[in-house]
Amino acid sequence: MLETAIVGSLPKPSWLAQPGLRAAWQSSGEELRAAQDEAVREAIRAQEEAGLDVVTDGELRRRHYIGGFLDGLTGIDQERTAKKQTRGGRYAESMDVPRIVGDVQRRGPILVEACRFARALTTRRLKVTLPGPMTMADDVADDHYGVGHQALAMRFAAVLNAEARDLADAGADIVQFDEPCFNVFVEEVERWGIEALERCMDGVRATKAVHICYGYGTPLVLAWKSKNTSWGHYGATLPLLAQSSVDQISVECAASGVDPSVLRAAGSKDVAVGVIDVGSEEVEAPEIVAARIRRALEHVPAERLKPSTDCGLVPRTAAAARGKMRALAAGAAIVRSEVMASLTPQRQL
Ligand code: ZN
Repeated sequence: MLETAIVGSLPKPSWLAQPGLRAAWQSSGEELRAAQDEAVREAIRAQEEAGLDVVTDGELRRRHYIGGFLDGLTGIDQERTAKKQTRGGRYAESMDVPRIVGDVQRRGPILVEACRFARALTTRRLKVTLPGPMTMADDVADDHYGVGHQALAMRFAAVLNAEARDLADAGADIVQFDEPCFNVFVEEVERWGIEALERCMDGVRATKAVHICYGYGTPLVLAWKSKNTSWGHYGATLPLLAQSSVDQISVECAASGVDPSVLRAAGSKDVAVGVIDVGSEEVEAPEIVAARIRRALEHVPAERLKPSTDCGLVPRTAAAARGKMRALAAGAAIVRSEVMASLTPQRQL
């Protein structure tokens, strides 16, 4: 009940990479690999010490959640980037994106070895995250196929499905697809986004999750959020996901203007509710977190409610990330004991 987890990423230690969303590694080759191993050990220890129920490897081997996955594919040029309007131009007029220059295939399993490494370090439930197909299609310029986002997403979905099956077989309990674009291209979600997600999840023997947020807690995103007045995206997408084969839907609720009553539209799915703001260094008091969980609990029963962060913690300092993970576990513990207390008298009758 009220199982806790972060969305996925943690800040990279300064000895591993320079700060930023697109990490520049401090070393290379074997030295980098050893540093990543050590960072993952620390990250899993930190999540366990904080008291989280599900852990990730902090995505510490990926310099970026999309770019780090593209590294494992053929046909991608990440050196000579192209300018493209991404996320519908919501955060910036254009961004530098990798280009597709040849046939896109996996060179081999991409995150599977990392998954096995993390699996061996913990007995808690392990989550591994992958970029979602719609978001991947939005984040590349296609100089090869000459097709639209829909066809590109389906091509990525085939690659993601192969990887997700391998991750489940390697011991991932939860495989999560990160689809921030579901909160941008709502019409496309209905037209083909759900279909692409289904293709990713097909035959995956693990809990299948999708994370849908309003972006990282970075200045560009925070500037957009402070002006945004329309928060109705989940109202359109959750009913569609409720009919899909996804098991768990991760939504941002702490730092957005989303009305938690929309969570009812998730039907019988598990809902990972963001109760930790990832756009600020300020660590929430456990009581604040508990109050946010109680608000969500009015709409999602405790068995299906998974208190979470709003998004990845990668832009935060190590101290803030650690504090926020502890606050998440402590806030959930408060509400868990309240729910237990409310159940006990009925059992005695
Ligand atoms: Zn996110």
